[in-house]
Amino acid sequence: MSQFLPSSVLYVDLSKHLYRVRNRQELFEKYIGGTGVATQLLLEECEKGADPLGPGNVIVFAVGPLTNLYPMASKTVAMFKSPHTGNLGESHAGGRSAIAIRSAGYGAIVIKGASESPVYLAIHEDRVFFRDATAYWGMNSAQTVGRVIRENEPGSGNRTIMRIGKAGENLVTYANLVTETYRHFGRLGLGAVFGSKRLKAVLVSGRKTTPVADRKLFKEVYETLYTQQTKSSALQKYHDLGTASNILVLNELKGLPTRNLGQAWFEGAEEISGENLAEKYLGRRVACAHCPVACIHLATLREPYEDEPYFYKTTMVPYDYELLYALGCMLGVSSVNGVLKLIDEVENWGLDAISTGVVLAWATEAVQKELVTKEETLGLEPKWGDYKTYLKMIELIVEQPNQFYKHLARGVEKAAEKYGGVEFALAMGGNEPAGYHTGPAGYAGFYTGARHSHLDSAGYGIDQKAVGKTPELTAQNIADGLIKEEAWRQVLSSLVVCFFARGVYTPEIVAKALKTVDLNFTENQLMETGLRILKEKYRFKFREGFEFKNLRIPQRILETESPHKNIRKEIIEQSIELYAQKIKT
Ligand code: SF4
Repeated sequence: MSQFLPSSVLYVDLSKHLYRVRNRQELFEKYIGGTGVATQLLLEECEKGADPLGPGNVIVFAVGPLTNLYPMASKTVAMFKSPHTGNLGESHAGGRSAIAIRSAGYGAIVIKGASESPVYLAIHEDRVFFRDATAYWGMNSAQTVGRVIRENEPGSGNRTIMRIGKAGENLVTYANLVTETYRHFGRLGLGAVFGSKRLKAVLVSGRKTTPVADRKLFKEVYETLYTQQTKSSALQKYHDLGTASNILVLNELKGLPTRNLGQAWFEGAEEISGENLAEKYLGRRVACAHCPVACIHLATLREPYEDEPYFYKTTMVPYDYELLYALGCMLGVSSVNGVLKLIDEVENWGLDAISTGVVLAWATEAVQKELVTKEETLGLEPKWGDYKTYLKMIELIVEQPNQFYKHLARGVEKAAEKYGGVEFALAMGGNEPAGYHTGPAGYAGFYTGARHSHLDSAGYGIDQKAVGKTPELTAQNIADGLIKEEAWRQVLSSLVVCFFARGVYTPEIVAKALKTVDLNFTENQLMETGLRILKEKYRFKFREGFEFKNLRIPQRILETESPHKNIRKEIIEQSIELYAQKIKT
């Protein structure tokens, strides 16, 4: 038995304000950590058929055996039942969350039940406090909440403050959880699950050290990883321009969703490109703990005060490709200040930027097609590029003053069910897509990925590699490629390493790194474990009612030309079918 695994699991019951710690060594030995362990804890602790916004849902945070040891093993996995899709919810974030959880002595934290009044949890190693958060409830900005808790809460060592904004309190199903500054558990509504439990924040702090079994091997593996991460040109691009460099690449390829995917190229791409932002707006870069890459780009938004000439309010605004896509080209906004203001707005309310942008894009088209009246929008007339109206609509989505905004607060799937326009309602498996109109593999990936995210299997990469090549992609190539990638990503998510380091954390180096914590997996065993974890995720999905045959393919993705011309519905359907067969065997 390895003594070097983070096998203590903290169980917190918000209903009873009680907690206990259990050693779950067997889970870490079998499923590594992170997503592997969190899936098992979700299966054990989430009540079957639970209302995602009820006390029967749970929140699981998990880190991995390499956390605190190796560079870029910087992430925490959160798992829960998603209020957005009604099924498996998973989201990853860095900041200091992972190192704080491990330094506090835990491999995972399970939060169940619901508090009667607002609380925040303060976890200082072995002591857990249920602090009254009534004074923080209703604060408009997630950033302000973080600052106030930071000043009031004692504790030293590695510390994280994960908290929700007003969107989470108001149960917007795509509300996020903000950690530190500029990092988020973005997708699938973890913020709303926090809100439903009247849990404003979780603070974790600790000073425990992380032992290794073989110091010599540890040094060798560390040096290999660090050298590759600091010398690799693949990682250099994340430092220089960040993922924002994708704007021009995808625009050139004609795979950049624009104006609710009415087209796949944007005439304002130069303006909102990573190159333009880096040249004219970049203020600084920051990094998650234990990361030498620093991919987090912060732009300087400078706004003059109305009655004070030469006085400016300066705000640092994080940007990356997905934010520029969802709140830029998807809404036809080419004004950089406009996009930055929209990003800042979703940041403050605590909303997932991708879902917010796609929801606003659907609403714009629904208004244009007169599916929604001016009375329902409360007098607002969204038009492509008009970011000032979008700013007002974001506030209304959070406040939900009428039925229309209540529906927008539940995502495009629910809004289109009520008002029509399903043919241009962009959601796959209930989740709004990231910005890749690259071809059939990208969409097949959105449909089949366990959390319906581009991060599950990166199908867009399969499309991009195949552009202009013969023979053309087949459903079999796509299904095989997706499942192989998704299975391997389960290993990376169990460690839990940043996906940007996936080229460095090869099966060979992962097997070696695990030896330093006395965990022995061959490369083949790692692949098998990845596939087993993926199937376990699907066990949860099927248990909660997911069926492949219920997936809906909106007409819009078929009619707008992609780099692979018009995508055939059959190739997506066949890819899903082949993937489903592999998952079920
Ligand atoms: S590359 Fe970026 S997201 Fe990944 S660990 Fe480093 S700073 Fe965090």
